Amino acid sequence: MSLKTIVWFRQDLRIHDNPALEYAAARGTIIPVYILDDDAPGQWKLGGASRWWLHHSLQSLSNSLESKGHRLHIFAGDPQQILSDLQHQTQSDTIVWNRCYEPFSIARDKAIKESMTSAGINVKSFNASLLFEPWTIKNLQGNFFKVFTPFWKHCLQQSVDPITLSGNSLDSAIPFLETLETSVQLDDFKLLPSNPNWATGFDWSPGEFTALHKLNEFFETAVMSYKEQRDYMDKSATSMLSPHLHFGEISPRLIYHRCQELMALGQGDLSGVQHFLSELGWREFSYHLLYHFPVLPTEPFRSEFNQFEWGNNPDDLRKWQQGKTGFPIIDAAMQELWQTGYMHNRARMIVASFLTKNLLIHWRHGAEWFWDTLVDADLASNSASWQWVAGCGVDAAPYFRIFNPITQGEKFDPDGIYVKRWIPELRDLDVKYIHQPWTAPLSVLKDAGVRLGHTYPEPMVDLKATRNRALQAYAGIRE
Ligand SMILES: Cc1cc2nc3c(=O)[nH]c(=O)nc-3n(C[C@H](O)[C@H](O)[C@H](O)COP(=O)(O)OP(=O)(O)OC[C@H]3O[C@@H](n4cnc5c(N)ncnc54)[C@H](O)[C@@H]3O)c2cc1C
Repeated sequence: MSLKTIVWFRQDLRIHDNPALEYAAARGTIIPVYILDDDAPGQWKLGGASRWWLHHSLQSLSNSLESKGHRLHIFAGDPQQILSDLQHQTQSDTIVWNRCYEPFSIARDKAIKESMTSAGINVKSFNASLLFEPWTIKNLQGNFFKVFTPFWKHCLQQSVDPITLSGNSLDSAIPFLETLETSVQLDDFKLLPSNPNWATGFDWSPGEFTALHKLNEFFETAVMSYKEQRDYMDKSATSMLSPHLHFGEISPRLIYHRCQELMALGQGDLSGVQHFLSELGWREFSYHLLYHFPVLPTEPFRSEFNQFEWGNNPDDLRKWQQGKTGFPIIDAAMQELWQTGYMHNRARMIVASFLTKNLLIHWRHGAEWFWDTLVDADLASNSASWQWVAGCGVDAAPYFRIFNPITQGEKFDPDGIYVKRWIPELRDLDVKYIHQPWTAPLSVLKDAGVRLGHTYPEPMVDLKATRNRALQAYAGIRE
């Protein structure tokens, strides 16, 4: 008799290196399921851009499963109820999933596991999303790490599990199509935007096939120069894997082992590979922090920041969101975000510093905007990174490090290519003035068709004055 296993897909939308899937396939019949759960996450239910991604990612997973003789059944609602109904309907004896680490996911999954187990159903969970699960990494005192460098050094001394062969084992699994009447069609989820369709510029191809292809391409072309090039906003020097990683379309273990293989060859300068791996380390560190400090998305890690006097100017926030600050590098970055659902890492740091320091707007407003607009919106990485830039996080950038958008632009977009790409109004402006158009002579502006305050905004704040104001506000909480 073939044993039936329900495989509950969540942030592991792939077939390769999927331990829950592998386990189920080895037992016999698999019943692959996805459940859209908008309740458990509360305020952190998927944002608009993530929903767009999810739609296409589920389509891709569904196609992959279908090509191997299986069908992805999709549902919306309370996972506990749906899984319990499914278990009755299919008479499955086991439910498996790969673990998620958001506080609400942990609480939900624990409750489901307890209730299923007490009903005599086997529940098994696996790690598919991280190299090192947060509770496995401890410092010498047995506590969690609060500083990245020792955290990562410690991690690199641990072994990482080899990848599983789930994609291959599926071929030999018994194809068994269950017809489940309560499942819905992907379109019923209404994950795609309409009226207006703001995603027309989303040039992405979600799904594991593209993710694996991108990894190969990145290894062939850019990984060796990653360390020197990654900060340049005008270049395509990073992997662009973040949304694929977030939705689990690619296994971090696979990436880790690919890096190790390259380093084992020992050819050339390997600092690019090491640096790339350490960025995956920041992802791990973010999950480590979220697990051990579950209020990370809403509370400052450094408690003195509870006293910090954040400003509250909705007009300023709107200008920032819409990319109408008058600082080209910031406006370009916010346009990139709006038009593509992505923003370069250096640009994320610059716009976050501007919001929290020059505008003194609470980092939570920035994190919420990112949550809605990023295709890679990730509770751990987003919360940890916003706190890092704002200066209230673990191992954070010191508060006095206030990015200057002009010098950052001049350094990391020296020819104004990034600015011109996202702000066509400045396309014809002499590169000498591209990061501070208000300093250009009127004749230069006129020749470029730029009318400050009309075709492009005047700078919304004085950088020096707002910098000093931020430093004073910071000094206030240190006294
Ligand atoms: C304010 C702010 C908010 C951010 N919000 C998110 C978010 O919601 N989701 C997200 O995935 N990343 C976030 N990041 C981190 C980083 O900007 C993106 O991961 C990176 O730009 C993605 O591009 P890439 O895939 O080409 O990265 P690569 O440079 O190719 O790096 C490889 C992978 O490492 C991980 N990574 C890289 N940098 C970081 C980092 N600083 N912290 C955590 N993981 C990292 C990502 O998974 C990335 O795909 C944020 C950074 C800042 C400053």
